[in-house]
Amino acid sequence: MSWQQRLRQALEQRRAADGWRQRRVIEQQSTRTLRSGGRDYLHFSSNDYLGLTRHPAVIAAWQQGAALAGAGAGASGHVTGYHRQHADLEAELAAWLGYDRALLFISGFAANQAVIHLLAEKDDRILADRLSHASLLDAASHSPAQLRRFTHNAPESLAARLAAPCAGETLVVTEGIFSMDGDSAPLAALAQQTRQAEGWLLVDDAHGIGVVGEQGRGSCWQQGVKPALLVVTFGKAFGVSGAALLCDADTADYFLQFSRHLIYSTAMPAAQAVALQAALREIQQGDALRQQLQQNIAHFRRGAASLPWQLMPSASAIQPLQVGENRAALALSRRLAEAGCWVSAIRPPTVPPGTARLRITLTAAHRPDDIDRLLEALHDAAG
Ligand SMILES: *Cc1c(COP(=O)(O)O)cnc(C)c1O
Repeated sequence: MSWQQRLRQALEQRRAADGWRQRRVIEQQSTRTLRSGGRDYLHFSSNDYLGLTRHPAVIAAWQQGAALAGAGAGASGHVTGYHRQHADLEAELAAWLGYDRALLFISGFAANQAVIHLLAEKDDRILADRLSHASLLDAASHSPAQLRRFTHNAPESLAARLAAPCAGETLVVTEGIFSMDGDSAPLAALAQQTRQAEGWLLVDDAHGIGVVGEQGRGSCWQQGVKPALLVVTFGKAFGVSGAALLCDADTADYFLQFSRHLIYSTAMPAAQAVALQAALREIQQGDALRQQLQQNIAHFRRGAASLPWQLMPSASAIQPLQVGENRAALALSRRLAEAGCWVSAIRPPTVPPGTARLRITLTAAHRPDDIDRLLEALHDAAG
């Protein structure tokens, strides 16, 4: 088979399975609306849970940061790309979340890959929640360590895996709030079992940070758990992009010495670090935004309870409606679009086969009327 044949075959299979993924050009967007193809929609597919992508203080901070420190960092952090602004942000994050140190990465994907790539060695094992993000599972399956998945949010399933003998170290991996289901991990139980096995727990809190816990400190803080490794990302509630690993001093030093993702990659722009500091301040003072978001979630769930599709048991901003087959999920997404509501259909392999869903996300910026319009469109589509 030639390269061309191989690619063409894969594309044909994807098309035949109603799995074709298409990027749509977004001509304009706010947190609650977007324009595409010249048409305006209410926007229910954003991870900008608090509306910070548009916050004047965050935008101004980025502009001022760029005027001061330039558009880019100019080098890896190990050369000359680690600036005052990065150091300040790392110190603020570490103090805020109660860790010795924070290390910045250019994305959550990169941070997860870096952590697993660096730590997992031969004879080690990685025990990951079955629904963990692709960046975690991919890195784990490519690592020399053994990867075992445990049943989603099931500490007893983790316990059974931990009972098996292992010659090396154990890394337990989960998300705080799951990106495609919206439910929360039972972090206290997972942490306790990990501790008993003398392993380390890695929590990816991409969807919890900023949104839950006192001052928005995330799922771990909310559940009174301090994992050895905490990854927080800045592309969701922070409204910017990037990520940080929170850890103790030895672990941070180990990463600085040996993590190829840090050593051989240009640091995030210092201006971005300034924008992130501004976003952090908004998050710390964001109780009113978090309250508004909670009200919007409750409003949606009340109205969606009687829909014929399975409203998944989620208390978070991620409110998936499980539809089942790809074709049905796409059709529902199109129906909603015709009614002026933008909701993405999520299909395998992002979610397990037969569980295609509409991933509805709510934000603090949505107004009660917006949610009513979405509910009306859903009830109309249900017939
Ligand atoms: C979005 C996401 C990531 C990736 O983060 P980026 O900063 O977008 O690369 C990692 N983990 C989870 C759970 C996510 O939802």
